[in-house]
Order: sequence, then structure tokens, then C-alpha cells
Amino acid sequence: MKRREFLTVAAGYAGMMVAGAQVAPPAPPAAATGPFALPPLPFAENALEPFISARTLSFHYGKHHKTYVDNLNKFTAGTPLAKLTLEEVIKETASDVGKATIFNHAAQVWNHTYFWNSLKPGGGGKPSGSVLTKIEKDFGSFDAFKKTFVETGLAQFGSGWVWLVSENGALKVVKTSNADTPLVHDQKPVLTCDVWEHAYYLDYQNRRKDFVEAFVEHLANWDFAAAQL
Ligand code: FE
Repeated sequence: MKRREFLTVAAGYAGMMVAGAQVAPPAPPAAATGPFALPPLPFAENALEPFISARTLSFHYGKHHKTYVDNLNKFTAGTPLAKLTLEEVIKETASDVGKATIFNHAAQVWNHTYFWNSLKPGGGGKPSGSVLTKIEKDFGSFDAFKKTFVETGLAQFGSGWVWLVSENGALKVVKTSNADTPLVHDQKPVLTCDVWEHAYYLDYQNRRKDFVEAFVEHLANWDFAAAQL
């Protein structure tokens, strides 16, 4: 709604007020902007086809990720949290059950941005250079890493994430539930795959294994992973 239209509607509600029977106008629409922004996708919505369809990305980025950003702005408006960075909000709210809703939205904003960066058109397969050396050192082989990553993605019951992280200098694969993120577990994220159903259901229905395998074989952004090490 344009501002002028909104003012016209608000004036209409004001006109409905009569002595002793005031009808409150509806709350103004939430501001579309705030301190937390939806970063641009690092590729076109159809760039990951056929492994992730443009339709999935359109919903996942344009609806799910955007809604987390919009709600985070709404929930933090006028609070000291609105002055913090996204990472600071996540760490500030992680162990405060009273702020679980804000944590969930902030972490989901961060996790999704990290996921887009973990994807690359024409990516996946066996990496090279420092990433491969580190994977072979810590998992034994790339195939062993792949098996662990896919099995861990499958083992996450319900919504969540599977991650390649660095902890105390060693690479490991971990899973997190819902919005939980390695950022609050003293682990440095290296790569992630979203295993919420909204990430794959339109393309793979219930076949999460096929989706996570496609992530490792065709989508993983090893350049991004190397930059995190
Ligand atoms: Fe998601």
C-alpha cells in the first residue's frame, strides 16, 4: 500500500470514531525495511538446475529467507538488538529462552545466507588443493567424507542443517536442529546444506538422500569452503 493510500484508509477509520464507541484503526503495516537485510542471491534462480529448480529457489529465497529477515526486523524494532550485527544478535539470544523467537529468526537468516554461499553452479564433486588435503587428513578420503555428510543429513530428524565445520583445527560433520547453528557451539562453519523439507520437497519430494547427494556431487562450493579454512 502506498503511503497516500494508507493515510486515506487511516483517515477513513478515524472517521468511524464516535463518542463512547471508538473503533481503533488497524496497526500500520510493519516497516518493510530495518537494520537486517536480505542479501542478494549469489546466482540466478535457475542457475542450479536441474539439481535445485528455479521454483524451489524462488520460494526458498524469495519467501522463506525473506520472511525470516522481515520478521527479525519486526521483532527487534525499537530494541537494543536492532543496533547489533546479525552475528551479535545470534550470540546474544542463543541461551536466552525468552528470546528464542528472535534467535530462531536471526540464525535462520544467517544459516540461509551461508547456504547460498555454499552452493555453486557447476560445483560439487571432489575438491582440490587445501580443502581436499584437509578432508583426506580428517576423514581418510573424500568418499568417506561424502558418506558421513549424506548419512548425517539423513540422520537429522525433522528440520535442520548438515554442516562441515572446523573445530579445534579439525574438520568434522555435524547436524543442527531447526535454526541451531555451529556459530554458538564454538565451531567454525565451512559448508552447509539445508535439510528442511522446504529446501528440496518440490524437486525431490521425500528423497532427502538424493538431494544431499546432489549437493555433494553437483552443488558444493569448494572455493567458498577453502576461503573459510
Ligand atoms: Fe531453508
